[in-house]
Amino acid sequence: MAHDEYCFETRLLHNQHKWDPATGAVSVPIQHASTFHQFDVDQFGKYDYARSLNPTREALEDVIAELEGGIKGFAFSSGMAAISTAFLLLSAGDHVVITEDVYGGTYRMVTQVLSRLGIEHTFVDMTDIDQVKLAIRPNTKAFYVETPSNPLLKVTDIQAISQIAKQHHALTFVDNTFLTPALQKPLELGADIVLHSATKFLSGHSDVVAGLAVVKDETLAKQLYFLQNSFGAILGVQDAWLVLRGLKTLHVRLEQSQKSALKLAQFLEKHPLIKNVYYPGLKTHPQFSLQTSQASGAGAVLSFELVDENALRTFHAHVKIPVFAVSLGAVESILSYPAKMSHASMSKEEREKRGITNSLLRLSVGLENPDDLIKDFSQAFEQMLKNELVF
Ligand SMILES: *Cc1c(COP(=O)(O)O)cnc(C)c1O
Repeated sequence: MAHDEYCFETRLLHNQHKWDPATGAVSVPIQHASTFHQFDVDQFGKYDYARSLNPTREALEDVIAELEGGIKGFAFSSGMAAISTAFLLLSAGDHVVITEDVYGGTYRMVTQVLSRLGIEHTFVDMTDIDQVKLAIRPNTKAFYVETPSNPLLKVTDIQAISQIAKQHHALTFVDNTFLTPALQKPLELGADIVLHSATKFLSGHSDVVAGLAVVKDETLAKQLYFLQNSFGAILGVQDAWLVLRGLKTLHVRLEQSQKSALKLAQFLEKHPLIKNVYYPGLKTHPQFSLQTSQASGAGAVLSFELVDENALRTFHAHVKIPVFAVSLGAVESILSYPAKMSHASMSKEEREKRGITNSLLRLSVGLENPDDLIKDFSQAFEQMLKNELVF
């Protein structure tokens, strides 16, 4: 069955798992079995033990591999499990060049776990290719990219980094959580491994924690499969099913949320009480043209900075629609406080150095009417004026 001639949104629905070959069921069956009867002493079947492979997880792995344009997908119990397992491709004595604007959990893994195992790292501003080149050492084995980055939405040139990595026989990892294959295909731009927190846009409903990885090379696929099975941080079948269901509406959800995100970013950009707006879909974003050239959209996450922490606290006390929570990429808008949430594991000095100040908020735009969000934000900003927090 060749489905690759269809558009992305069609392929979300009409792929090799559109029905179950055994029954015709139009939803992938949840196979709870942990073990599988073997009919022969010498020749085992495709499935033997569910950590190694099971049909429900396999369906999700097939679907994400196809959507990312890879040859093999892997499903893990969380985004961090996917990222950590991918890092196990490295050995003691290896070195990673990593974006300084990285997800807090990845920062913690690299600085507090990998370092203990003898895997070295250098953080760089990946928007500056010269800095990336300067960080390379003879033992550099991987380049770790997150674009757009969290929470400052900086854009890294995936093609340029992949080319540098290839010259040094190193791998390029790209965390594609913010854009998903609906908007950005890192493997086509030269990356070796795409990573996801499927907890976010891919599943989209704030009801499952999951991680995915996709590769395009047979040898790397074998190595990563070996690690997935050895380390064992696999995704359970119920959760695999939830991600498969969420994926079917990925395109419509992201399209709508992205449209609203642009509208909100434009509103915030013009608002006198907002110091900075970070959204790569704004023409004023320093990497707007790079973003436009390597992705088909800017996504639905933006950050904005208020004048100070007091203003932020007043805004938080009065804003009504978004949930105030960790996470992103859901049907409901989610407002987060990076300094106390996603980047709490980073010291204050490290955060401030990166621009993640105590007056920065991140907004993941959901499916509400954007005018309702703008109205809600406006009334919360007015409270700041009433409290004479701003002159
Ligand atoms: C949430 C997130 C992760 C971690 O994923 P979990 O599913 O929470 O383990 C990694 N990278 C990015 C960009 C994220 O937003």
